[in-house]
Amino acid sequence: MTHANSDVDPVGDMQYRKTNRVVHKYHDRVIMLVTQNCPVYCRHCTRKFHTTEKQQSYFAEGEGSSYDADFEYIAAHPEIRDVLLTGGDPLTYNDRRIEQILARLRDIPHVEIIRIGSRYPVLLPQRITDDFCAMLERYHPVWFSTHFNHPSEITAEAAAACDRLLRAGVPVQNQTVLLKGINDDVETMRALLCRLLEIRVKPYYLYHCDNVSGVSHFMTDIERGNAIMEALTGHISGYAIPRYIVTTKLGKIPLEKSYVTQKDGKIILRSHTGQTMTINALDDVALQAEVLPQHD
Ligand code: SF4
Repeated sequence: MTHANSDVDPVGDMQYRKTNRVVHKYHDRVIMLVTQNCPVYCRHCTRKFHTTEKQQSYFAEGEGSSYDADFEYIAAHPEIRDVLLTGGDPLTYNDRRIEQILARLRDIPHVEIIRIGSRYPVLLPQRITDDFCAMLERYHPVWFSTHFNHPSEITAEAAAACDRLLRAGVPVQNQTVLLKGINDDVETMRALLCRLLEIRVKPYYLYHCDNVSGVSHFMTDIERGNAIMEALTGHISGYAIPRYIVTTKLGKIPLEKSYVTQKDGKIILRSHTGQTMTINALDDVALQAEVLPQHD
């Protein structure tokens, strides 16, 4: 099913593409689309047109072509301090090939951190071997982003894979896509976020489902996403709360409602329980006033 306004490239990667693999959208960081292959092909994937070849791949020169131009671009741009390896899924490559990429990046002095985006901890956790983790340790600081959408995906094997990464000093964070009928209710989302904390994976982003072709049956409205965020913010550990955002051609835009409003020159602060206080400024003495918390 295709939504009337669905887009094959909803985040505008092609607009910001500088070389065969490098997309430079934000000033100080780039993504490297190292492959178009994945362990699974997610219906909701933002880069569906890259991974399915329906609309042709990003790889004008082919995935197997030299990386030289990609590394040369990064080396020539000293403002780039953060490189995210993504795709497709970089872990479809073997360790030797991933290490070649990491080593080339570590030869560029201004690249401070390297991130890897991969669903392997969720989908084939056995891929996260001790050897792989030991290899990553040689290229620190390396961060890891994975993609759990539902608490049922956090199996013992998945938890063990994340634990291996964490023990190798690789921080692991999670990006969830809000999907109608899958995780767009408070209890499922609460279970997912709390379970992630239990396995020491930080919930980082809750993505509003991008309007890619064939995904309209999974799309929710922003009100539903915000209702879930409000039902959880302040009610579970702050560590468990991701940013609720939408990815656009202009960049990532936070969607959360503000807890601060202004009226008649005053500032109104709203708590997670719905209580409000009106103050003149954020250093107002009213902030110090005793307000009895409500426990739910
Ligand atoms: S694994 Fe990631 S890149 Fe691959 S299809 Fe799923 S969301 Fe897209």
